[in-house]
Amino acid sequence: MSAFAVAVDGPAGSGKSSVCRGVASELGMRYLDTGAMYRAITWAMLDADIDVEDAESIAAAAQSVQITSGTDPHKPTISVNGQDVSEPIRSADVTGAVSAVSAVPAVRQLLVELQRDEVAHAGASGIVVEGRDIGTVVLPDAPVKIFLTADPAVRALRRAKEDSERTNVHVSVADTEAALIARDEKDSTRASSPLTQAQDAIVVDTTELNLQQVIAEVVSQIKAARGA
Ligand code: C5P
Repeated sequence: MSAFAVAVDGPAGSGKSSVCRGVASELGMRYLDTGAMYRAITWAMLDADIDVEDAESIAAAAQSVQITSGTDPHKPTISVNGQDVSEPIRSADVTGAVSAVSAVPAVRQLLVELQRDEVAHAGASGIVVEGRDIGTVVLPDAPVKIFLTADPAVRALRRAKEDSERTNVHVSVADTEAALIARDEKDSTRASSPLTQAQDAIVVDTTELNLQQVIAEVVSQIKAARGA
């Protein structure tokens, strides 16, 4: 039997990672960042000098990339063929190439299978899974589906702050906003599993909310669904 799963989708910078980690920590659940998996496979392609616009080569090379995700919300990990890639998958190069790699159907097929496998093995505590197609494709029967949104300007501000803090280098909000919008456009218009809101998803607009408020909202939806 598959574990109790919460599907959280939304565009870049909508707060998915912080919210999902907070929710999973509070409820003692596992946490799976599927964006990190697409980033990891993209990192592997760049590392092997494969042209990310060459879908055929990407599809072939993807078969020998082994992605492993650690699902502890306090310390999520991601590795490629045994190498920890948590840091390099956040680089601008990977961010710029990930939408092209994740549009390749063979890549999606491979990762969706891995994601369902993680959910199947999550155990009694359940799992919070974040991404773009979780409620629509990966886990269409998830008992709780959340779609997080926020104004692009607010998303850019949050992401630029995060990136500046992580790298210790000032990151421009305007550049970040342009990059986010371009990535959303690619992710929403690709043929294979585009970013869309599941019809039965609860929409949470985080523009005016702080992190604790969003976590509280999602926790209360989960408790209601679990009958707690
Ligand atoms: O969530 P994050 O911004 O790290 O995701 C990076 C990229 O991975 C997205 O822009 C998208 O191209 C891809 N992605 C996807 N499907 C998912 C999760 C992420 O295509 N379920």
